[in-house]
Formats: sequence, C-alpha cells, structure tokens
Amino acid sequence: MRPDQFSTARPVVVVGSGPAGHRVVQALGRQAPALPVVWYGDEPWAPYNRIKLSSLLAGDARWEEITADSPIPDTVDTRFGLRVARIDRAAGEVVDMRGARQAYGALVLATGSRAHVPAIPGVDLAGVFTFRDLSDAQKLQARTVRSRVTVVIGGGLLGLEAARAMRRFHTRVIAIEHGNRLMPRQLDDEGAAWLHKAVVEAGIEVRLAEAVKGIEGRGEASGVVLRSGEVIACDTVIIATGISPNVELALRAGLPVGRGIRIDDTTRTADPCIHAVGECAEHNGEVYGLVAPGLEQAAVAANRLCGGDAVYTGSIAATHLKVMGCKVFSIGEVERYGAADPARARHFADPDGDGYRRVLIRQGRLVGAQAVGPWAETPRVQEAVRSGRRIGPWQRLRFSRIGQLWPDTDAGDVRLWPAEATVCNCTGVTRGQLEAARQRGCNSIVALGADTGAGTVCGSCRPLLAELADGAALPAARGWGALNAFGLGAALLALLYVVFAIPFPDTAELAWRWDALWRDSLYKQISGYSALAAMTLLALIGLRKRWTRLARVWDFAGWRVVHVVLGLALVTVMAVHTGGRLGHNLDRVMSLAALAALLSGALIAVVVARQHQLAPGTVRRVQRSATWVHILALWGLPVLLGFHVLKAYYF
Ligand SMILES: Cc1cc2nc3c(=O)[nH]c(=O)nc-3n(C[C@H](O)[C@H](O)[C@H](O)COP(=O)(O)OP(=O)(O)OC[C@H]3O[C@@H](n4cnc5c(N)ncnc54)[C@H](O)[C@@H]3O)c2cc1C
Repeated sequence: MRPDQFSTARPVVVVGSGPAGHRVVQALGRQAPALPVVWYGDEPWAPYNRIKLSSLLAGDARWEEITADSPIPDTVDTRFGLRVARIDRAAGEVVDMRGARQAYGALVLATGSRAHVPAIPGVDLAGVFTFRDLSDAQKLQARTVRSRVTVVIGGGLLGLEAARAMRRFHTRVIAIEHGNRLMPRQLDDEGAAWLHKAVVEAGIEVRLAEAVKGIEGRGEASGVVLRSGEVIACDTVIIATGISPNVELALRAGLPVGRGIRIDDTTRTADPCIHAVGECAEHNGEVYGLVAPGLEQAAVAANRLCGGDAVYTGSIAATHLKVMGCKVFSIGEVERYGAADPARARHFADPDGDGYRRVLIRQGRLVGAQAVGPWAETPRVQEAVRSGRRIGPWQRLRFSRIGQLWPDTDAGDVRLWPAEATVCNCTGVTRGQLEAARQRGCNSIVALGADTGAGTVCGSCRPLLAELADGAALPAARGWGALNAFGLGAALLALLYVVFAIPFPDTAELAWRWDALWRDSLYKQISGYSALAAMTLLALIGLRKRWTRLARVWDFAGWRVVHVVLGLALVTVMAVHTGGRLGHNLDRVMSLAALAALLSGALIAVVVARQHQLAPGTVRRVQRSATWVHILALWGLPVLLGFHVLKAYYF
C-alpha cells in the first residue's frame, strides 16, 4: 500500500498496543510524521514491557521500569482501554466495543495472542491463573502473599518465568512439563539437563513427562490431578501451556486465517489495505512466539505504509532468557531431523561446571546453537546462524576444546563486530543499523534507542550501546602517529624495492662507489648480518604476546611501534645488501616472500594507525586478510634464508 493509494484524510489505524503495534506507531511517526494515526489497545494502560512482567512479579523491577521508555509520537490519537470489536471492510472502518466507527485508509492488526488454556476440568476455579498481561501479573502479585504451594503447568519459557517469579521463601513451586525435558523447543536433552539442575538448585521442583488430567477443588483450586492418578496438593495453579493468537477480528472480517492471520512478504493480509504483524500473524506457516520477529514485521509494515519496498522473509528467532540467574540461549535448529540428516553437533561442557554449549552444523554451515550458562559469543553466533556462515574445521576443533568458535580477540569490542551482528536481541537491531544511527547524530543510549528501538525492551544490551555511543567509530591507537609514519615509510621502500633497482654509478672516477655496498664482501656481510638481526628481533617481538617479560618491560602499543621501526630498518638494509635487486631462483623467492611480509605488515600498521578514521568493518577485514598474507609469507623465510647463507659461504 503506497500512501497515494489511500486518502491521507483517512488515518492508518493500528489495533493492539503490544510491542509490535507500538513499533508500527513509532516507525510511522518517524518516517511519515504528517500521516494521521489512530492507535487502539484494549488494555487500559499505556504500552508497557510485557517481557519484564516476570521481573515485576518477582519484585526485581518496579512499574516505572516496565512502562515503555520510548515515547509515543504526539500526532498519534491513542485510544487505550478500548477494544475494536469488528472490521467493516466494505466501508473501510473499524467498530469499537462502544459501537463508534473509525474510518481507516490502512489498517494494521497487532492483536498479539493470549494464554492458551487447555480444555481440562477445573481451569475456571478460583486460584487458577494465566500469565500474559499486566492484570494477570497484578492478580498473581496479590496471590504470592498467601500462596504456600504453586503448581505451574508448562516447563517452557513462560512456565519457567512464572515459576521464577512465584518462588518465595515461603512458597513451594512445582513445575510440571508434559515432555521429557524442560524448554523442549529450545534445548536438546543435554542442555535441558543442565537447565534442570539450575532450576532445581534455585528451589523449584520439576516433574517431567507428566500429563495433567484436571484441577480439583471446591470453588477454589486445591490440587492438580495427574494422568497417573496422583494429586499434587496446591493452592495456586498457573497455566503456561503456550499461546493462542488473537485472530477473531480477522476471522470475522473474512480474512484467511491459519494458526495466525496469514500475511505475505509485505505483511499484507489477503486484503491489501490490511496488514498484520506480531504474534497474531502467520507468515509462511510460522507464528512466532517471541518479540523480535514481530518487531521485524512491524518495521516492514511501516515501511510499506510509507511507500517503501521492504520485504519480510521470515525470522530465525533467538531466545535469550535468564531462568533463576542462569542464562539460556537458543537459536535456529535444535535437533537433527533424524539419522539421515547430515547435520553434525559439537558439544562443549565447561569442566568447571559453568555451563553447556552446542552448535549444529550442516554441510559446513552453522544452522543452530544453544547454551545454558554464559557465552560471550552469542551475538556473533546469532549473526552466523542467520547468515548461514561457514564454520571451518579449526573452529569446530576450537569449539570442542574451549567452547569458542572465534579467537578471544574477535569477540570483545562491539565496535569490531560485523555490521550484520545483532546487538539488541529483543528488537533484532544490528551493529550496522546502530552505526548508521550514530552517523545520523545519535550519540547517546537514549538517542540510539529512540532511533532504532535498541535497548528499549529488556535493556540488557545497554552496555553495548554505551560502548557504541562513545563518539568516534574506533578510538585512536596509542602511538598512532609513529605507527603511521614508519608504516608508510616501510610500505614505500618495499614498493620501490619491487619496481626499482639502485643504479650503478655511470663513471669510474668517483671518490666512493656506492655499488661497493652490495658488491664488496665486507659490506655485504655487515648488511646481511644486520638484516638477519632485524629479522630475528622481529620474530622475537612477534612472540611478545606469549613472552610475558617483554610485556612487563613495555606495553603492547610500544612494542608494536618497535616492530614497525624494525620492519623499516629491515627493508633498508635489504636494499643496501642487494642494491634493490630481487636476485635469481631461490634468492628471488626469498626476496619476494620478505617483501610480501614487509608490505602486509606495513599495511596492518597503517590501518591500525588510522583506525579512528576508518569504518570498524574495514579495519577488521584489512587486518584479517593482511595478517594471513603476513603469516604465509613468513612461513618459508627461515629455510630460504638458510639456503642463502649456505650458498654465500660454500659456493
Ligand atoms: C511474562 C512474559 C515473558 C516473556 N518473555 C519473553 C522473552 O524473554 N523474549 C521474547 O522474545 N518474548 C517474550 N515474551 C513474549 C512476548 O511478550 C511476545 O512475543 C510479544 O509481547 C508479542 O507482541 P505483540 O505486539 O505481537 O502482541 P501482544 O504483546 O500480545 O500485544 C497485543 C495487544 O493487543 C491487544 N488487543 C488484542 N485484541 C485487541 C482488540 N480487538 N482491540 C484492541 N486491542 C487488542 C492485546 O490486549 C495486547 O495488549 C514473554 C511474554 C510474557 C507474557
């Protein structure tokens, strides 16, 4: 739908004040501030952070902390506490529960979902709760004071969140899971076993592979009846057995509905004037029960409403949560599709008992990952799964050994992450998007959040935003001036060496013939041994990371400058030793290898020196490629040098 296709006198109407609806409204406010927007929400309060409801219930967060901190654009006509009862597609109007009509030019359904309540006896007894919205949380909050035994039905994400929130020193909490492991959609057997341990250690009892037949009680719940006949006595029951998308509005309006409201890649339903986003929408047969895919859909819907051509091709949703202080992460595929599936899993269990990680690799590409316990690489893993990145044999080996896919140095600084790496997991905002926002002048956490939405849901990425908002793309390297000057000098000399030889004097009547430098045996020996000494020192300094004594004498930045100065000295003495000639046969190979090492080293020095003026991605890519050339070129040098010395003395 392009704006010119609907009358701007008729507003865009958004139904649903959850995160997906909120994101549509915010994006419209930013991209088309003049577009009239009417926003309905049947909950009586302004948008709040549903994800933090468990923290509110557990007493870890206050009300002010869970109300959305991203503002609602002034131009939006908000109608909270008002339910939309019907869509009149023929008239292009919605009808609210009071019977009032509101015309729309375009309609966005963001009605989300409600808790799924299984059809078992006793679900309508007093003391039986669901956990979906603020009013549920308020009721449960009141209940925590008097509950002595709470049974949570469902051992998935929501059930464990509810169990965590209800756990008090005076309340016994029992979680019942129908499957044979906790969080079966996100974790494999081993991962679930680690989580199980953490949950039990936190004081929650877990019953696996148990089906609930009903809830018993006279007016009020007094026990949960299992299929085995066993009754677990309790005073409170929380049903956390999944979600049911709110599709009734669409269904009554005659729109195609499966599990959710069916949408295409533009987030439109079968009616081109009506979009659906978030947990109420079904795209390619998939209804996502997480916030990030809904936000991606919302961004596409808003873009389309503003005349853009964004497409939504589906999400590989990542789950991040903290169950009783234990971090759980899962993305992509959890298990192999059976014995014929060529996918291979690599496991790593921390010997200190700190956690478990697993990656699933199919045909060399990362297709899934999960972790129970801390894992610093999760943002990169997310990006790698989403882009189907190749994982080399050495990475698999490293993972099996130490539980890391990338070397330590790669994971640390957020400014060095690839542009596609996700920084905010809740909203799916990448490092590249944040960098673009920074270029637009957003240089604080608040500004970055207002522009991109990052950090506005659970807030756990705010330290990363702080790092990104710190001003320049990358800080200037210490000693960057010297590094730049010596690096450029070395690069220039090495290039000259390749294309230009020092000429011989064209007359014999000179007091001093400079060609003696590369022809006279004594001079040649002096320059040759100087080159050897420079190479040896370079090799020793190259080992500085492992040689702690060097690190104690001077820091890394200092030794880096020394390394580059020695490189410049080496190329100078090489030129003196040979007159700038590459030599023949093995000597030529040796000269070219040394020059390749010198040029790649000089390039690294110049790029590091100028990192504060370059895009972090460029710095990272050049450094990586040049380092490979540097290492490869250095490999054969000792042997070639040995031959050269042997030849000089014996032949
Ligand atoms: C306790 C809890 C913890 C969670 N933790 C996580 C987590 O860690 N990570 C994660 O990714 N997800 C989590 N989720 C799920 C996440 O909250 C949902 O994925 C997300 O809220 C979906 O957003 P939505 O806007 O599509 O729908 P909703 O948030 O359901 O919002 C829809 C809104 O529309 C309103 N509405 C419905 N029909 C109408 C109508 N006819 N008229 C007017 N208004 C209407 C509803 O009342 C509701 O306010 C959690 C959920 C809960 C309850």
